[in-house]
Amino acid sequence: MRVREVLAGALLCAATAVPAGAQQLFDLQKVADGVYAAVATPRSPINCNAAVVVLDDAVLVVDTHSRPSSAKALIAQIRTITDKPVRYAVNTHFHWDHVQGNHAYPVAFPKQVAIIASEATRENLRTLGAGRLKDQLASTPGQIAALEAQLAKATDAAAQARLKDEIAQQKDYLEEIKSLELTLPDLTFDKSLIIYRGDRRVVLLFLGRGHTSGDVVAWLPKERVVATGDLLHGWMPFMGDSYPSEWVATLDALDKLEFDHIIGGHGTVKPRAHLTFFRNYLADLIAAVRGARDRGETLDQAKVSVSAALKPKYDGGMNGEFAGSVGANIEKVYRDLEAKKY
Ligand SMILES: [Zn+2]
Ligand SMILES: [Zn+2]
Repeated sequence: MRVREVLAGALLCAATAVPAGAQQLFDLQKVADGVYAAVATPRSPINCNAAVVVLDDAVLVVDTHSRPSSAKALIAQIRTITDKPVRYAVNTHFHWDHVQGNHAYPVAFPKQVAIIASEATRENLRTLGAGRLKDQLASTPGQIAALEAQLAKATDAAAQARLKDEIAQQKDYLEEIKSLELTLPDLTFDKSLIIYRGDRRVVLLFLGRGHTSGDVVAWLPKERVVATGDLLHGWMPFMGDSYPSEWVATLDALDKLEFDHIIGGHGTVKPRAHLTFFRNYLADLIAAVRGARDRGETLDQAKVSVSAALKPKYDGGMNGEFAGSVGANIEKVYRDLEAKKY
């Protein structure tokens, strides 16, 4: 279980109640009037967070989680705050944990809902989505088997209960994705798309490549909130599909917008200061790996030296994930520099 951080300075309400019997997969937190962060509760595999924006006669949701049943569960939770239909579902990027629930929206709101993304994200999902799904279908049975092996060895009751629950969740996930329909966005844009509804303005922006080649942020200028997907969130960055040096520049572009609260794709709602922390991690990572290469260090040596150099500043602010993820981040940048990408 991840321990929820206390968010200093942010105005957050307690979780909203859900109807009896519904799965509470999200902690719905009010960030501004009519603007909510749906913070995903720990699941196996993960769900991403969503941002929920209540408009004059509709609702806009940012990101759709790892599977339709999760999106359906969020729709049930949205029903506790408004009966307006969801007319806009935004995909921040093409990763499975943000788009695989898309299909739930046209099912729940037939012919009423647009699934919106950058053109690059639609293209990524169109060309890579099916392959990524196939990878999950191939790898999930092995993950279940590994958990079952752990369960066979576990001796204390709490660990057994946790593993049993995780195995059940993984099996349930595998069954669901066997028949998953990947639903592509049906409304795309290159740089920006502005939605005017009543007195609310939602500005969807592609500010440049970063976590992927198509990251979208949803900015509410009046409410001073931004939803950022995995371009900026409360966990350690996953860099597998990223453009690290451009990512820093994209976050600098984001820094020019006015906002106070960040609803990231994972982790808790963050204050604006987190942008600088997260941006500096990426910049310092690149500089440190470059320095290690200039000193002639091998990848393994760089993993040790760069990790040690970054740890004092970043270990504390990455949701306890620094040690587990920094090696992969170092490797990504090392390989990119080796290929003279920047
Ligand atoms: Zn992602
Ligand atoms: Zn994600």
